[in-house]
Amino acid sequence: MNQQDGGILVFAEQQNGKIHKITYELLGKARELAKKLAVPVSCALLGPDGISAWELVYSGADLVYYIADDCFSVPDEILYRQNLADLIGRTRPQICLIGATSFGRSLAPGLAGACKAGLTADCTGLEIDEDGALIQIRPAFSENILVHIKSSAMPQMATVRYREFDALPRDAARRGKVVNLAAKNSVDPFIKTIKRVRTNSTDISDAKVVVAAGRGLKSAQDLGMIRELASLLGGVVGASRQIVDDGFLSKEHQVGYSGARVKPGLYVACGISGAPQHLAGMKDSGYIVAVNSDPSAPIFSVADFGIVGDLYRVVPQMITKTKAAGAPAAAAGGAMDRTG
Ligand SMILES: Cc1cc2nc3c(=O)[nH]c(=O)nc-3n(C[C@H](O)[C@H](O)[C@H](O)COP(=O)(O)OP(=O)(O)OC[C@H]3O[C@@H](n4cnc5c(N)ncnc54)[C@H](O)[C@@H]3O)c2cc1C
Repeated sequence: MNQQDGGILVFAEQQNGKIHKITYELLGKARELAKKLAVPVSCALLGPDGISAWELVYSGADLVYYIADDCFSVPDEILYRQNLADLIGRTRPQICLIGATSFGRSLAPGLAGACKAGLTADCTGLEIDEDGALIQIRPAFSENILVHIKSSAMPQMATVRYREFDALPRDAARRGKVVNLAAKNSVDPFIKTIKRVRTNSTDISDAKVVVAAGRGLKSAQDLGMIRELASLLGGVVGASRQIVDDGFLSKEHQVGYSGARVKPGLYVACGISGAPQHLAGMKDSGYIVAVNSDPSAPIFSVADFGIVGDLYRVVPQMITKTKAAGAPAAAAGGAMDRTG
Protein backbone atom coordinates (compact mmCIF):
# COMPACT_ATOMS: atom_id res chain seq x y z
CA MET A 1 0.00 0.00 0.00
CA ASN A 2 1.51 3.37 -0.86
CA GLN A 3 0.81 6.42 1.21
CA GLN A 4 -2.16 7.54 -0.84
CA ASP A 5 -4.31 4.45 -0.69
CA GLY A 6 -6.60 5.56 2.08
CA GLY A 7 -8.67 7.98 0.00
CA ILE A 8 -10.22 10.96 1.74
CA LEU A 9 -10.60 11.12 5.52
CA VAL A 10 -13.09 13.53 7.07
CA PHE A 11 -12.85 14.33 10.77
CA ALA A 12 -16.39 14.02 12.18
CA GLU A 13 -16.49 16.57 14.95
CA GLN A 14 -19.04 15.97 17.69
CA GLN A 15 -20.10 18.13 20.59
CA ASN A 16 -21.87 16.43 23.51
CA GLY A 17 -22.39 13.40 21.28
CA LYS A 18 -24.04 15.40 18.50
CA ILE A 19 -22.26 15.45 15.15
CA HIS A 20 -21.49 19.01 14.05
CA LYS A 21 -23.23 20.07 10.82
CA ILE A 22 -19.92 21.00 9.24
CA THR A 23 -19.10 17.29 9.07
CA TYR A 24 -21.98 16.73 6.62
CA GLU A 25 -20.80 19.66 4.49
CA LEU A 26 -17.28 18.19 4.40
CA LEU A 27 -18.70 14.80 3.44
CA GLY A 28 -20.64 16.40 0.57
CA LYS A 29 -17.47 17.98 -0.79
CA ALA A 30 -15.38 14.87 -0.09
CA ARG A 31 -17.75 12.78 -2.24
CA GLU A 32 -17.28 15.18 -5.14
CA LEU A 33 -13.47 15.06 -4.80
CA ALA A 34 -13.51 11.27 -4.34
CA LYS A 35 -15.43 10.82 -7.58
CA LYS A 36 -12.68 12.63 -9.48
CA LEU A 37 -9.97 10.60 -7.76
CA ALA A 38 -11.91 7.29 -7.73
CA VAL A 39 -11.11 6.77 -4.04
CA PRO A 40 -13.29 6.03 -0.99
CA VAL A 41 -14.41 8.52 1.63
CA SER A 42 -13.95 7.62 5.27
CA CYS A 43 -14.80 9.40 8.48
CA ALA A 44 -13.06 9.48 11.85
CA LEU A 45 -15.61 9.78 14.64
CA LEU A 46 -14.16 10.14 18.13
CA GLY A 47 -16.72 10.52 20.87
CA PRO A 48 -18.67 8.94 23.68
CA ASP A 49 -20.68 5.76 23.15
CA GLY A 50 -24.06 5.90 21.47
CA ILE A 51 -23.47 8.34 18.59
CA SER A 52 -25.29 7.27 15.44
CA ALA A 53 -22.22 6.70 13.26
CA TRP A 54 -24.47 5.41 10.46
CA GLU A 55 -25.69 8.96 9.87
CA LEU A 56 -22.25 9.62 8.38
CA VAL A 57 -22.72 6.74 5.94
CA TYR A 58 -26.18 8.06 4.99
CA SER A 59 -24.52 11.40 4.24
CA GLY A 60 -21.68 10.17 2.06
CA ALA A 61 -19.07 8.15 3.99
CA ASP A 62 -18.08 4.71 2.70
CA LEU A 63 -16.40 3.81 5.94
CA VAL A 64 -16.65 5.23 9.47
CA TYR A 65 -13.95 4.61 12.05
CA TYR A 66 -15.79 5.06 15.34
CA ILE A 67 -13.52 5.36 18.36
CA ALA A 68 -16.00 5.37 21.21
CA ASP A 69 -14.67 6.43 24.58
CA ASP A 70 -15.82 8.84 27.25
CA CYS A 71 -12.39 10.50 27.14
CA PHE A 72 -13.60 12.26 23.95
CA SER A 73 -16.45 13.96 25.79
CA VAL A 74 -13.96 16.70 26.58
CA PRO A 75 -12.28 18.49 23.65
CA ASP A 76 -8.82 17.40 24.73
CA GLU A 77 -6.60 18.19 21.75
CA ILE A 78 -3.78 15.90 22.87
CA LEU A 79 -6.02 12.84 23.11
CA TYR A 80 -7.73 13.64 19.82
CA ARG A 81 -4.39 14.29 18.12
CA GLN A 82 -2.88 11.07 19.41
CA ASN A 83 -5.80 8.95 18.21
CA LEU A 84 -6.22 10.70 14.88
CA ALA A 85 -2.50 10.63 14.10
CA ASP A 86 -2.51 6.93 14.84
CA LEU A 87 -5.52 6.36 12.57
CA ILE A 88 -3.98 8.43 9.78
CA GLY A 89 -0.74 6.47 10.13
CA ARG A 90 -2.64 3.21 9.73
CA THR A 91 -5.14 4.19 7.03
CA ARG A 92 -2.87 6.58 5.09
CA PRO A 93 -5.39 8.93 3.49
CA GLN A 94 -4.41 11.10 0.57
CA ILE A 95 -6.55 13.99 1.81
CA CYS A 96 -7.66 14.85 5.32
CA LEU A 97 -10.44 17.41 5.92
CA ILE A 98 -11.25 19.08 9.23
CA GLY A 99 -13.93 21.69 9.94
CA ALA A 100 -12.64 25.16 10.75
CA THR A 101 -14.62 25.27 13.98
CA SER A 102 -13.00 26.53 17.19
CA PHE A 103 -11.96 22.99 18.05
CA GLY A 104 -10.95 22.09 14.49
CA ARG A 105 -8.81 25.21 14.26
CA SER A 106 -6.92 24.32 17.42
CA LEU A 107 -6.66 20.60 16.68
CA ALA A 108 -5.47 20.72 13.06
CA PRO A 109 -2.02 22.36 13.36
CA GLY A 110 -0.81 19.88 15.99
CA LEU A 111 -2.26 16.98 14.03
CA ALA A 112 -0.55 18.15 10.85
CA GLY A 113 2.71 18.38 12.78
CA ALA A 114 2.27 14.90 14.24
CA CYS A 115 1.64 13.51 10.72
CA LYS A 116 4.48 15.55 9.18
CA ALA A 117 1.92 17.01 6.81
CA GLY A 118 1.30 20.56 5.67
CA LEU A 119 -1.92 22.37 6.56
CA THR A 120 -3.98 24.95 4.75
CA ALA A 121 -6.28 26.68 7.19
CA ASP A 122 -9.73 28.15 6.61
CA CYS A 123 -10.27 26.95 3.04
CA THR A 124 -13.28 28.21 1.13
CA GLY A 125 -12.79 26.01 -1.92
CA LEU A 126 -11.29 22.61 -2.78
CA GLU A 127 -10.54 21.24 -6.24
CA ILE A 128 -8.58 18.42 -7.82
CA ASP A 129 -6.04 19.37 -10.50
CA GLU A 130 -5.02 17.38 -13.56
CA ASP A 131 -2.31 15.58 -11.55
CA GLY A 132 -4.84 14.43 -8.96
CA ALA A 133 -3.51 16.83 -6.34
CA LEU A 134 -5.76 18.78 -3.99
CA ILE A 135 -5.96 22.49 -4.70
CA GLN A 136 -6.77 24.26 -1.48
CA ILE A 137 -8.33 27.66 -2.00
CA ARG A 138 -8.48 30.29 0.69
CA PRO A 139 -8.67 34.07 0.96
CA ALA A 140 -5.50 35.96 1.83
CA PHE A 141 -4.40 39.53 2.45
CA SER A 142 -7.62 40.44 4.27
CA GLU A 143 -9.82 38.67 1.73
CA ASN A 144 -8.39 40.65 -1.19
CA ILE A 145 -7.05 37.67 -3.10
CA LEU A 146 -7.83 33.98 -3.30
CA VAL A 147 -4.74 31.81 -3.11
CA HIS A 148 -4.53 28.32 -4.58
CA ILE A 149 -2.30 26.07 -2.51
CA LYS A 150 -0.93 22.68 -3.45
CA SER A 151 0.87 20.63 -0.83
CA SER A 152 3.47 18.04 -1.67
CA ALA A 153 3.36 16.45 1.80
CA MET A 154 0.90 13.65 2.49
CA PRO A 155 -1.81 13.67 3.61
CA GLN A 156 -2.92 16.93 2.05
CA MET A 157 -4.59 18.45 5.08
CA ALA A 158 -7.01 21.36 5.21
CA THR A 159 -9.46 23.00 7.56
CA VAL A 160 -12.60 24.22 5.82
CA ARG A 161 -14.91 27.03 6.86
CA TYR A 162 -18.44 26.32 8.00
CA ARG A 163 -21.24 26.89 5.47
CA GLU A 164 -18.98 26.84 2.40
CA PHE A 165 -20.19 23.54 0.98
CA ASP A 166 -23.54 21.80 0.77
CA ALA A 167 -24.31 18.56 2.58
CA LEU A 168 -25.78 15.74 0.50
CA PRO A 169 -29.41 14.81 1.09
CA ARG A 170 -29.61 12.08 3.74
CA ASP A 171 -30.01 8.69 2.06
CA ALA A 172 -30.76 5.85 4.50
CA ALA A 173 -30.35 3.35 1.66
CA ARG A 174 -26.64 4.21 1.23
CA ARG A 175 -24.36 1.31 1.97
CA GLY A 176 -21.18 1.60 4.00
CA LYS A 177 -19.38 0.21 6.97
CA VAL A 178 -18.85 1.29 10.56
CA VAL A 179 -15.67 -0.04 12.15
CA ASN A 180 -15.34 0.24 15.93
CA LEU A 181 -11.83 0.91 17.20
CA ALA A 182 -10.43 1.12 20.70
CA ALA A 183 -9.19 4.47 21.97
CA LYS A 184 -5.55 5.03 22.76
CA ASN A 185 -5.77 6.75 26.06
CA SER A 186 -2.20 6.50 27.21
CA VAL A 187 -1.60 10.14 28.05
CA ASP A 188 -2.77 11.94 31.16
CA PRO A 189 -5.75 14.09 30.24
CA PHE A 190 -4.46 17.48 29.23
CA ILE A 191 -7.74 19.15 30.04
CA LYS A 192 -9.66 18.60 33.23
CA THR A 193 -13.31 19.66 33.35
CA ILE A 194 -13.92 21.71 36.45
CA LYS A 195 -17.34 23.06 35.56
CA ARG A 196 -19.49 23.16 32.45
CA VAL A 197 -20.34 26.71 31.46
CA ARG A 198 -23.70 27.35 29.84
CA THR A 199 -23.29 28.82 26.39
CA ASN A 200 -25.83 30.24 23.95
CA SER A 201 -27.84 27.34 22.61
CA THR A 202 -28.05 29.07 19.22
CA ASP A 203 -24.89 29.06 17.17
CA ILE A 204 -24.76 32.39 15.39
CA SER A 205 -23.83 30.59 12.15
CA ASP A 206 -27.18 28.78 12.17
CA ALA A 207 -29.37 31.75 13.11
CA LYS A 208 -32.20 32.78 10.77
CA VAL A 209 -31.99 36.41 11.87
CA VAL A 210 -28.90 38.29 13.04
CA VAL A 211 -28.98 41.84 14.39
CA ALA A 212 -25.38 43.01 14.55
CA ALA A 213 -23.78 45.96 16.27
CA GLY A 214 -20.73 47.91 15.21
CA ARG A 215 -18.65 50.74 16.54
CA GLY A 216 -21.51 53.12 15.93
CA LEU A 217 -22.64 51.85 19.33
CA LYS A 218 -21.19 54.09 22.03
CA SER A 219 -21.37 51.82 25.07
CA ALA A 220 -22.00 48.22 26.10
CA GLN A 221 -25.19 49.33 27.88
CA ASP A 222 -26.62 50.41 24.53
CA LEU A 223 -26.58 46.77 23.43
CA GLY A 224 -29.94 46.50 25.19
CA MET A 225 -31.77 47.87 22.15
CA ILE A 226 -29.84 45.56 19.79
CA ARG A 227 -30.76 42.57 21.98
CA GLU A 228 -34.38 43.67 22.12
CA LEU A 229 -34.64 43.99 18.34
CA ALA A 230 -32.92 40.62 17.85
CA SER A 231 -35.27 38.96 20.29
CA LEU A 232 -38.37 40.52 18.72
CA LEU A 233 -37.25 39.26 15.31
CA GLY A 234 -36.54 35.79 16.72
CA GLY A 235 -32.83 36.18 16.08
CA VAL A 236 -29.45 36.49 17.78
CA VAL A 237 -26.97 39.31 18.35
CA GLY A 238 -23.92 39.61 16.11
CA ALA A 239 -21.02 42.03 16.23
CA SER A 240 -18.21 43.55 14.25
CA ARG A 241 -14.71 42.87 15.47
CA GLN A 242 -14.47 46.35 16.93
CA ILE A 243 -17.29 45.60 19.33
CA VAL A 244 -15.61 42.36 20.39
CA ASP A 245 -12.21 44.02 20.71
CA ASP A 246 -13.80 46.74 22.84
CA GLY A 247 -15.12 44.02 25.15
CA PHE A 248 -18.81 44.76 24.55
CA LEU A 249 -19.52 41.19 23.42
CA SER A 250 -17.68 37.86 23.44
CA LYS A 251 -15.90 36.44 20.43
CA GLU A 252 -18.66 33.96 19.51
CA HIS A 253 -20.78 36.95 18.44
CA GLN A 254 -18.17 38.17 15.95
CA VAL A 255 -19.15 38.00 12.31
CA GLY A 256 -16.53 38.09 9.60
CA TYR A 257 -13.26 36.84 8.30
CA SER A 258 -11.85 35.99 11.70
CA GLY A 259 -15.23 35.34 13.27
CA ALA A 260 -18.30 33.38 12.23
CA ARG A 261 -19.66 33.16 8.74
CA VAL A 262 -23.43 33.65 8.77
CA LYS A 263 -26.15 33.23 6.15
CA PRO A 264 -29.38 34.25 7.88
CA GLY A 265 -32.56 35.18 6.03
CA LEU A 266 -32.21 38.66 7.54
CA TYR A 267 -29.07 40.51 8.65
CA VAL A 268 -29.48 43.90 10.29
CA ALA A 269 -26.19 45.82 10.52
CA CYS A 270 -26.35 48.69 13.02
CA GLY A 271 -23.45 51.15 13.00
CA ILE A 272 -21.16 48.84 11.00
CA SER A 273 -19.04 50.42 8.27
CA GLY A 274 -18.81 47.30 6.08
CA ALA A 275 -15.08 46.57 6.01
CA PRO A 276 -14.18 43.69 3.64
CA GLN A 277 -13.37 41.49 6.64
CA HIS A 278 -16.88 42.00 8.02
CA LEU A 279 -18.59 41.56 4.64
CA ALA A 280 -16.75 38.25 4.22
CA GLY A 281 -18.85 36.83 7.02
CA MET A 282 -22.33 38.09 6.11
CA LYS A 283 -22.60 39.17 2.47
CA ASP A 284 -24.46 35.98 1.50
CA SER A 285 -27.31 36.71 3.90
CA GLY A 286 -30.83 36.66 2.44
CA TYR A 287 -31.79 40.27 3.09
CA ILE A 288 -29.35 42.83 4.44
CA VAL A 289 -30.61 45.94 6.21
CA ALA A 290 -27.98 48.54 7.08
CA VAL A 291 -28.36 51.45 9.49
CA ASN A 292 -25.52 53.93 9.26
CA SER A 293 -25.22 57.71 9.66
CA ASP A 294 -22.66 57.90 6.85
CA PRO A 295 -24.30 57.59 3.41
CA SER A 296 -20.95 56.58 1.89
CA ALA A 297 -20.41 53.63 4.27
CA PRO A 298 -19.44 50.52 2.23
CA ILE A 299 -22.08 48.43 4.03
CA PHE A 300 -24.67 50.10 1.78
CA SER A 301 -23.06 48.48 -1.27
CA VAL A 302 -24.27 45.05 -0.10
CA ALA A 303 -27.49 46.19 1.60
CA ASP A 304 -30.94 45.49 0.19
CA PHE A 305 -32.37 48.20 2.42
CA GLY A 306 -30.24 51.09 3.64
CA ILE A 307 -31.29 53.54 6.32
CA VAL A 308 -29.07 56.61 6.55
CA GLY A 309 -29.49 57.83 10.09
CA ASP A 310 -28.49 57.73 13.71
CA LEU A 311 -28.95 54.22 15.03
CA TYR A 312 -30.00 55.66 18.38
CA ARG A 313 -33.07 57.03 16.63
CA VAL A 314 -33.59 54.32 14.01
CA VAL A 315 -33.26 51.14 16.12
CA PRO A 316 -35.89 52.22 18.72
CA GLN A 317 -38.24 52.95 15.83
CA MET A 318 -37.57 49.52 14.37
CA ILE A 319 -38.40 48.02 17.76
CA THR A 320 -41.67 49.94 17.93
CA LYS A 321 -42.64 48.97 14.38
CA THR A 322 -41.71 45.31 14.93
CA LYS A 323 -43.80 45.20 18.09
CA ALA A 324 -46.70 46.72 16.21
CA ALA A 325 -46.28 44.22 13.37
CA GLY A 326 -46.61 41.25 15.75
CA ALA A 327 -45.08 37.82 14.98
CA PRO A 328 -41.32 37.37 14.97
CA ALA A 329 -39.87 36.86 11.52
CA ALA A 330 -38.02 33.65 12.29
CA ALA A 331 -41.18 32.10 13.71
CA ALA A 332 -42.88 32.87 10.41
CA GLY A 333 -41.01 29.95 8.87
CA GLY A 334 -37.95 31.69 7.44
CA ALA A 335 -40.17 33.66 5.07
CA MET A 336 -37.40 36.19 4.62
CA ASP A 337 -35.12 33.81 2.83
CA ARG A 338 -34.66 35.23 -0.67
CA THR A 339 -35.28 31.83 -2.15
CA GLY A 340 -38.26 31.17 0.09
C1 LIG B 1 -6.91 40.14 9.53
C2 LIG B 1 -8.16 40.92 9.91
C3 LIG B 1 -9.28 40.23 10.26
C4 LIG B 1 -10.45 40.91 10.59
N1 LIG B 1 -11.57 40.21 10.90
C5 LIG B 1 -12.72 40.87 11.14
C6 LIG B 1 -13.93 40.16 11.39
O1 LIG B 1 -13.98 38.92 11.45
N2 LIG B 1 -15.05 40.87 11.59
C7 LIG B 1 -15.09 42.25 11.56
O2 LIG B 1 -16.16 42.82 11.75
N3 LIG B 1 -13.94 42.92 11.35
C8 LIG B 1 -12.78 42.28 11.16
N4 LIG B 1 -11.62 43.00 10.97
C9 LIG B 1 -11.66 44.45 11.24
C10 LIG B 1 -12.21 45.26 10.08
O3 LIG B 1 -11.16 45.58 9.20
C11 LIG B 1 -12.86 46.56 10.59
O4 LIG B 1 -11.92 47.27 11.36
C12 LIG B 1 -14.12 46.35 11.43
O5 LIG B 1 -15.01 45.49 10.77
C13 LIG B 1 -14.80 47.69 11.65
O6 LIG B 1 -15.84 47.53 12.58
P1 LIG B 1 -17.03 48.57 12.61
O7 LIG B 1 -17.69 48.62 11.28
O8 LIG B 1 -17.86 48.23 13.79
O9 LIG B 1 -16.30 49.93 12.98
P2 LIG B 1 -15.98 51.19 12.08
O10 LIG B 1 -15.26 50.83 10.84
O11 LIG B 1 -15.34 52.16 12.99
O12 LIG B 1 -17.42 51.71 11.63
C14 LIG B 1 -18.38 52.25 12.48
C15 LIG B 1 -19.52 52.74 11.62
O13 LIG B 1 -20.56 53.22 12.45
C16 LIG B 1 -21.14 54.36 11.83
N5 LIG B 1 -21.75 55.13 12.91
C17 LIG B 1 -21.12 55.84 13.88
N6 LIG B 1 -22.03 56.35 14.72
C18 LIG B 1 -23.25 55.99 14.26
C19 LIG B 1 -24.58 56.20 14.70
N7 LIG B 1 -24.85 56.90 15.81
N8 LIG B 1 -25.59 55.68 13.98
C20 LIG B 1 -25.35 54.96 12.85
N9 LIG B 1 -24.11 54.71 12.40
C21 LIG B 1 -23.07 55.21 13.09
C22 LIG B 1 -19.99 55.05 11.15
O14 LIG B 1 -20.45 55.86 10.08
C23 LIG B 1 -19.16 53.89 10.66
O15 LIG B 1 -19.51 53.52 9.34
C24 LIG B 1 -10.45 42.34 10.62
C25 LIG B 1 -9.30 43.03 10.26
C26 LIG B 1 -8.17 42.33 9.91
C27 LIG B 1 -6.95 43.11 9.52
